[in-house]
Amino acid sequence: MAEEKETAVEKRSILIVEDERDIASLLELHLNDANFDVSLAADGHAGMRLAFSRQWDLVILDIRLPGPDGLTICRALRREMAYVPILMLTSKSSELDRVLGLELGADDYVTKPFSVTELVARVKAIFRRIESVEKRFPGGAELLHINDLIIDTSGREVRKGDDDLSLTAREFDLLLHFARHPGQVFSRAQLLDSVWGYGHEGYEHTVNSHINRLRAKIENDPAHPQLIVTSWGIGYKFDATPTPSTASPSRDGFSNVTPMRRHL
Ligand code: CA
Repeated sequence: MAEEKETAVEKRSILIVEDERDIASLLELHLNDANFDVSLAADGHAGMRLAFSRQWDLVILDIRLPGPDGLTICRALRREMAYVPILMLTSKSSELDRVLGLELGADDYVTKPFSVTELVARVKAIFRRIESVEKRFPGGAELLHINDLIIDTSGREVRKGDDDLSLTAREFDLLLHFARHPGQVFSRAQLLDSVWGYGHEGYEHTVNSHINRLRAKIENDPAHPQLIVTSWGIGYKFDATPTPSTASPSRDGFSNVTPMRRHL
C-alpha cells in the first residue's frame, strides 16, 4: 500500500482567490514550484463559483475582493461544503480580529505583507497536519466516544445523541486536541500553540471565546461544563476519557455506530 501511494502521488489542488494580480501570480509560481496544482480566481464571484465547482485540497482566500469578500466565501464554504482547509490573507489587524474573533472556520491566516516563503511553509504545515491524521488512521474512521458524544476523527464530524453538531474547523480541532489528551491541563498559550499553530501571541482571549462556543455545543449544561473544565489560574482540561473504536466508513455516516458508555 505504501509503495503504491508513493508511485501514484496526486498533486494537492489549491484554489487561490486573490484580486491583486502580482500577489496571485507570485503565489501561483511558488506553489507550482512546490508541486501543487494551482488555480486562480481574480474576484469574489469567480472565487465563489470555482470554490464550489469541485473538492479542493486547500482554498486560499484574500479578504478584500471585488464581489463577495473572502469572509463571505469562507462562511459559505463552511456552511455548504465537506471539510476543506482554508487559509485567509488579511491586510489589517482589524481583519485579523474578524478572522480570529468571529471564527469563520479558517484553518490559518497570513497578514499582508507576507513573504512567499512563509506562505508556502504555512500551506505545507496545513497539509502535514492533514497527512498525520490520515496516517494515524489508515483503516478509515476512528471514532472517539465520550458519553453521548461521538467524534469522527477523519470525517471531522461530531454527533451528540441523535444530533449532528455543527462545529467550525477550529472548534473541531480544539475538541479533538482535548479528547486526545484527556485529563491534561493546557494553558491558553499552549492551546494557541497546539491548535492554532504559531504566531498567535496576544490572542489568548480567542481561546476563551472558542471554548465557550464549543461548550455551548457539546456540554449538557454549558453553564456547568463537565467535559471541558476550567483549571482556575492555569487553563482548561478535558475531564473525560474517550473510548476509541474503529468503524468502516459507511454511506450512512454514523448510523452503523452503537454509542458506548463512558469509559470510567
Ligand atoms: Ca484584495
